[in-house]
Amino acid sequence: MSVLVVVEHDRGTIAPATLEACVAARALGEPVHALTIGVAADGLVDVLAEHGVSLVVRAHHDLLADYGPEAWGETVAHEVRRSSPSAVVATGTDRGNEVMAQAAARLDLPFVANCTEITPGEPWSIQRVRWGGSLLERCTLTAPVKLVTVAHHTHEASPAPASVTTETISPELDASLARTVVAERVERAAGVTLATAPLVVGGGRGVGSADGFGPLEELAAELGGVVGCSRAVTNNGWRNHTDQVGQTGTRIAPDLYIACGISGAIQHWVGAMASKKILAINTDAEANMVTKADYAVIGDLHQVVPAITAEIRRRRTG
Ligand SMILES: Cc1cc2nc3c(=O)[nH]c(=O)nc-3n(C[C@H](O)[C@H](O)[C@H](O)COP(=O)(O)OP(=O)(O)OC[C@H]3O[C@@H](n4cnc5c(N)ncnc54)[C@H](O)[C@@H]3O)c2cc1C
Repeated sequence: MSVLVVVEHDRGTIAPATLEACVAARALGEPVHALTIGVAADGLVDVLAEHGVSLVVRAHHDLLADYGPEAWGETVAHEVRRSSPSAVVATGTDRGNEVMAQAAARLDLPFVANCTEITPGEPWSIQRVRWGGSLLERCTLTAPVKLVTVAHHTHEASPAPASVTTETISPELDASLARTVVAERVERAAGVTLATAPLVVGGGRGVGSADGFGPLEELAAELGGVVGCSRAVTNNGWRNHTDQVGQTGTRIAPDLYIACGISGAIQHWVGAMASKKILAINTDAEANMVTKADYAVIGDLHQVVPAITAEIRRRRTG
């Protein structure tokens, strides 16, 4: 038997979460195979081999030229019927969960999303994240083929080189599966993204206005990071939703998150809690973000943030 990893990629660019899924798959103790969907992903064989994959199954079809949940879900289902793996492990991202939900419905199998720990056996014992990260649940999974996704940022990608072979399949996909496909792409600003930035400077309602983000931008630029924000900020129209951290925004995992004027409501916290260190700047010493942070400065962010930037510059030039 084998464990099949569904490779998340965007026109051939692998999602880092796939390599985390490889770590979880390897821990299940069976040979790890991977399914790449679409010709664009053919070039991913080497990176998958570096992460312990011994067989890459490449699915080719005209309908797989770009992402579409139904076509991808049917492709996963096709491969499960064809090769009968003991389990399928995918990324606990929007796409990974969407594809696995499609596959599970087509295979009439249960599916456990966003797992943080998996203990194989009969049944499997699983810990998973629910309710946007505010609930950890323990459950068991009994199924002839176990379908799971791995919560993003809960496993650290680590290489485990394997010798690899490849196989190409052509699933039968009918045109009705192209109901939802990526039709158009909008280029986002170049550079590091909120999800992958090593440093994020977040601003909340305490920033006070769109213009108030200027000093946060300066601090982020000085440290090679990006600016994020809370939903209070996007609701006020001060920043774009693409900058929002949280349950209904982006989940971040920087080395350092500097949270300025953010109270730390649970919906914000679930998007920020994977940060390795948190520095909170807040006038309220009892704010959730302050009590959960590794470091805190109790004070007015309009004074504290420019002072930090000035001190960094002084030390760099001095
Ligand atoms: C279904 C649902 C989904 C949600 N999803 C998200 C989400 O994805 N992301 C998200 O962020 N929220 C989300 N929310 C909203 C969330 O509940 C909070 O309302 C929001 O996070 C609060 O934003 P805030 O911390 O900026 O504002 P507030 O809670 O108003 O906090 C402002 C903070 O700024 C401090 N402050 C004020 N002035 C200063 C100053 N001059 N200097 C320093 N500190 C100062 C205050 O002490 C306070 O702690 C969601 C809510 C719901 C119901």
